[in-house]
Amino acid sequence: MPLSSSYRQSRKQLSTSMDNIHGVGPRVFQKLSKMGISRVEDALYTLPFRYEDRRSIRKIAELNEGLQEVFCGEVLSCGETFTSRARKRIFEAVVTDGTSTIQLKWFHYRKNWLKNQLVTGRLGLFCGELHYFAGVREIHHPEFEFISKNRSLDDALSSTTLDFGRILPVYPLTEGLTQKVIRKIFKAVVDNFAPQILTPIPAEILKRHGLVPLDRAFTMVHAPDNSAAVDELTAFSDPGRRSIVFDEFFFLELGLALKKRGVLQEPGMAFNVSHKYTKPLAKLLPFKLTEAQRRVLGEIKHDMMEPAPMNRLIQGDVGCGKTIVALMASLVAIENDTQVAVLAPTEVLAEQHYLQFHRRFEELGLRVALLVGSTPKKERATILEEIAAGNIHMLVGTHALLEEGVAFKKLGLGIIDEQHRFGVHQRASLRHKGVSPDILVMTATPIPRTLFLTAYGDLNLSVIDELPPGRKTIKTKVYSEKEREGVFRFITKELDKGRQAFVVYPLIEESDKVDLMAAEESFDHLAREVFPDRRLGLLHGRLKPAEKEEVMGCFKKGKIDILVATTVIEVGIDIPNATVMVVENAERFGLAQLHQLRGRVGRGADDSYCFLGRSKKCSADGFSRLKVMQETNDGFRIAEADLEIRGPGEFLGTRQSGIPDFRVANILRHGKLLEAARREAFDLVERGNFLTNPEYAELREALQDRWGGRLELASVG
Ligand code: ADP
Ligand code: MG
Repeated sequence: MPLSSSYRQSRKQLSTSMDNIHGVGPRVFQKLSKMGISRVEDALYTLPFRYEDRRSIRKIAELNEGLQEVFCGEVLSCGETFTSRARKRIFEAVVTDGTSTIQLKWFHYRKNWLKNQLVTGRLGLFCGELHYFAGVREIHHPEFEFISKNRSLDDALSSTTLDFGRILPVYPLTEGLTQKVIRKIFKAVVDNFAPQILTPIPAEILKRHGLVPLDRAFTMVHAPDNSAAVDELTAFSDPGRRSIVFDEFFFLELGLALKKRGVLQEPGMAFNVSHKYTKPLAKLLPFKLTEAQRRVLGEIKHDMMEPAPMNRLIQGDVGCGKTIVALMASLVAIENDTQVAVLAPTEVLAEQHYLQFHRRFEELGLRVALLVGSTPKKERATILEEIAAGNIHMLVGTHALLEEGVAFKKLGLGIIDEQHRFGVHQRASLRHKGVSPDILVMTATPIPRTLFLTAYGDLNLSVIDELPPGRKTIKTKVYSEKEREGVFRFITKELDKGRQAFVVYPLIEESDKVDLMAAEESFDHLAREVFPDRRLGLLHGRLKPAEKEEVMGCFKKGKIDILVATTVIEVGIDIPNATVMVVENAERFGLAQLHQLRGRVGRGADDSYCFLGRSKKCSADGFSRLKVMQETNDGFRIAEADLEIRGPGEFLGTRQSGIPDFRVANILRHGKLLEAARREAFDLVERGNFLTNPEYAELREALQDRWGGRLELASVG
């Protein structure tokens, strides 16, 4: 669709290069480019990170100690002198406004320039922080600006170019640029270009949330007028900034709303719940489903019975029993003569799932197969044949299952475990293995709601917020290298009681040789010197699947006392007799990851313990982060803390996380606005005529523009 002329015109204006701006020469242009500001739009979106309130002019007699304050005064005397002790040159001036005098001092200065500026009898505006030095009131390195002879103070203050008498924006800087320079340039940009910005969001929506159109918003943020509330500006909660943030959220959510509706409009399969397999399974289980499990299963079944494809995320803390729920959902699909695909992020986890499902499926007379990268060729060929023929009911695997050769007879349900490790397009690839199959995503990483709304905003959310009965909280302690001996003694005590333990070494990349060597060395050390009479096993990502299974099997059967491992045990491993989890160099893990690891213990009836080791390299920040783990077992609180510390991209795994880069918005700070933007965007789309109503033409253009090529609006007309 061609862009309308007003919209195109506005876009063109905003992409004007910064070297066209008054005051931007080649040197400044280069500096600005280094800050990512090469076009006018970049400058507009570079918002002040704080403000200085220079509105009120104080009497010199009333200046407060320790505050940045502005005053007006006449230079009584000035000149270079020497400090009494160190005999260093300094420049001094005495200024008065009739109420009192004040001493100004410069320790670093360009003499000629300063001498030219500070002339006895000149009237100027000054800003600085007053302090007492040996009982004398002084201000060091004040900012100042002089008023021309024939001008009155009021006249000068009404001039907008002055850095006094108003609220001043303070911008991020790069070396070689000063606030003064950047303020002047940005002022020119805002004056000339802010009025060109269009606001496609309907006025009624802005009004409902106390927001203003973007042209005004940008002016208000960059050049607040004297009636603005400084505390709001400082807290980033002023109407200008909120409007810009809302705009960012709104277009994101509008795109997600359309995506979601697009999926809903595909014809999917409406399943029947016949209970052919689900009833017998319920009888086989040694426990009753929790309230939360039943509720979530109900939501899933409801979706599966609808003709539209399901697109749902199950979120639940480690050990809350997501797998059983997924199993039940799988049985519904199988009862309807369709197949199920289960996608896991690692081979170990795929194997674990396979074993779990396999046990139940066998009892029900159903068939499940495992397909991973290392599956032998011949076996793979057989599996593919059986899958295509429909003889296998469920295929569990890693991304190997998304390869081209894998064709289902009829895929009814795709399950993705630990979604945050997969990109958005894996979900799409899995979907394409069938004809609009239902999709169920499971994650044990509690995703804060704000993040969910941005990263997975096109999914429906089910939360299992209850653990099976009888789970004990895990006692957690952060230890230093000095305390390590004590931790090992504690392990010995637990082993004496017949329990088992994990010792984990961080291996950030499975391919990192240095890390792997460190883990192997530590294993040798533990096996030979610390626990010579215990049985130890080593588990890492480089082992062949059969070897891993062997080690895991031994641990599960109690033939190994201590399992030394890298992060491959992070997810899904279930050993109720293990009661101690030790994580060395724990500061190298994210909190969410540590929470996952900790969830490997506390699965049985006994008290469980988690020890998090901080190495010498652990910073004070790292230490306080680890302490969060000590304070809470609540996955949500941990996730929020983690998100706050690491930022959204890293939280979900940087690559392909699906988190958009906001220019201004911060999902932590502006969570409420995000919710509001989402409601409005979804309302608009659900009203139905969004894609055709001429009233929204500009909005649709802006939407396409913002999403670039990432949004397929098939029916935009
Ligand atoms: P998750 O995948 O959510 O981390 P799992 O599905 O692996 O959790 O379940 C963890 C453990 O709890 C498993 O041993 C499982 O058999 C058990 N379990 C699941 N649901 C219940 C329940 N309702 N009551 C008792 N135990 C349960
Ligand atoms: Mg699990």
